[in-house]
Amino acid sequence: MRALADDFAAYAWAPSTEELARRAGLDPVEIVRFDGNVPALPLPSSRPGALAGALADVNCYPHGGYTELETAIARYAGVDPENVVLGAGADDLILLCARAFAGPGDAIAIPPEPTYPLFRIAAQLAGATVGDEAPALTFCCRPGNPYGDLPPLPEARPLVVDEAYFEYAGETAAGLIHDEDIVVIRTFSKAFALAGARVGYLLAGRELAAELRARQAPAPVSTLSAALAVAALREPPDVSWVAEERERLADGLRALGLDPLPSRANFVFVPVDEPASLAERLLAFGCVVRVTGGGIRISVRDREDDDLLLDALARVLDRAPVAARNTLLQGARRARTVRATAETAIRVRLGLDGGGRVRVQTGAGLYDHLLEQLAFHGGLDLVVDGTGDWETGPHHTAEDTAIAVGEALDRALGERAGIARYGSATVPMDDALAHAAVDLGGRRGAEIRLERDPGLARHALESLASAARMTLHVEATGRDDHHVAEAAFKAVGRALRAAVAREGAGLPSTKGIL
Ligand code: PMP
Repeated sequence: MRALADDFAAYAWAPSTEELARRAGLDPVEIVRFDGNVPALPLPSSRPGALAGALADVNCYPHGGYTELETAIARYAGVDPENVVLGAGADDLILLCARAFAGPGDAIAIPPEPTYPLFRIAAQLAGATVGDEAPALTFCCRPGNPYGDLPPLPEARPLVVDEAYFEYAGETAAGLIHDEDIVVIRTFSKAFALAGARVGYLLAGRELAAELRARQAPAPVSTLSAALAVAALREPPDVSWVAEERERLADGLRALGLDPLPSRANFVFVPVDEPASLAERLLAFGCVVRVTGGGIRISVRDREDDDLLLDALARVLDRAPVAARNTLLQGARRARTVRATAETAIRVRLGLDGGGRVRVQTGAGLYDHLLEQLAFHGGLDLVVDGTGDWETGPHHTAEDTAIAVGEALDRALGERAGIARYGSATVPMDDALAHAAVDLGGRRGAEIRLERDPGLARHALESLASAARMTLHVEATGRDDHHVAEAAFKAVGRALRAAVAREGAGLPSTKGIL
């Protein structure tokens, strides 16, 4: 083998979620990764259905290339398909550019450290050295990783602009590719939430694009991944909320006495004195951050998860709690669950000692609303997001959501020691009247009698009871099916509120992650 540079260090992956969970003594579902700069959930466009066509042809090569994906990317990026070169992630294209432009005896200029490690790795793998002396190629990164800054575009040419985080900042050099030796690299890993699919693309002038394509493997992208990318491009994600959430997170960090750097990306960098030890202490709370460049880098996830991190940081740093502290975090009786089937992918975050933070968004319409009612009247914090094949009807989504919430309830109850165990409630709603009684003793059973049912209300309650390992009796009457269902779900919520209440001594041990 050709020797590599003496200081060559291969790309080092962060440990797996399972390994981190082992180290922290937690269940893997309690691990929340703030270290990958990827969205917290896949987009609806990555549902299994998006793969069906590609699976039917998976015995075939992508004969003739990836016309559909290249055309869709060209439309998205405002260029022609001839300007598009696909790769297995932006990483693949960084490696391609380095080896296409430079070799032994050449220098490649990379951004000042700390920066994305692959620029140096790619230069060294190409046999080139890293340096600013008459570089054969210059890499820049906009927005930059790990700071999230937006440095000025270098004047050096040829220039590769890594725009992995382009969607968050909205600034691009794509307009320059036709007239200058500039290559823009982008990815489906970040805003499009397809990091596991490994699809990236570069934009370059026609001739340069053709030269680069000639230096690739014949079929660099899986047809399954290409199908996912095509599906994602049909409805490009709106990431405008990320900047808002990033600033909220940064405010929370400042309230803890930290000093996050300004960022234009989906993460913030916080300089700290002993980042590795801080990260290790955060891991005990299930929060995984990236240690790099004299600080920690924190990916923006969503309000609930970001508050989890702020709360963990407040405890680790022994600082006053953040001003707008999220009650979701105050009790230990919390759980996260993810339920994925061929039809649905549902994530649940549940807190039994809630503060009324309730959001159920699965697309199952009425059943989302009914679960929100249950949670609200149950005094629970319940955030359910995900997606299902609700265009075929709400059945799978409503059922899987009820199961996922039930599983979360079971998990959040832990050993079930010291709870009231029984609860009952009667709730009228206009013409409807519902009685509900629950036993959280651990036996499954459901006796659900609804005089009318909008369709799946009884089934959802049965699924919930079974997954939560509870006995549930409901009797609801009325003239309007929605009222009957709503009264029933509210009554179940009220009954649950009584049954999960802590009673006297023998409180459940703090099995949660805080
Ligand atoms: N460039 C930068 C600046 C990155 O941060 C990353 C991923 N962390 C990549 C490229 C790699 O992206 P991909 O998943 O498309 O290979």
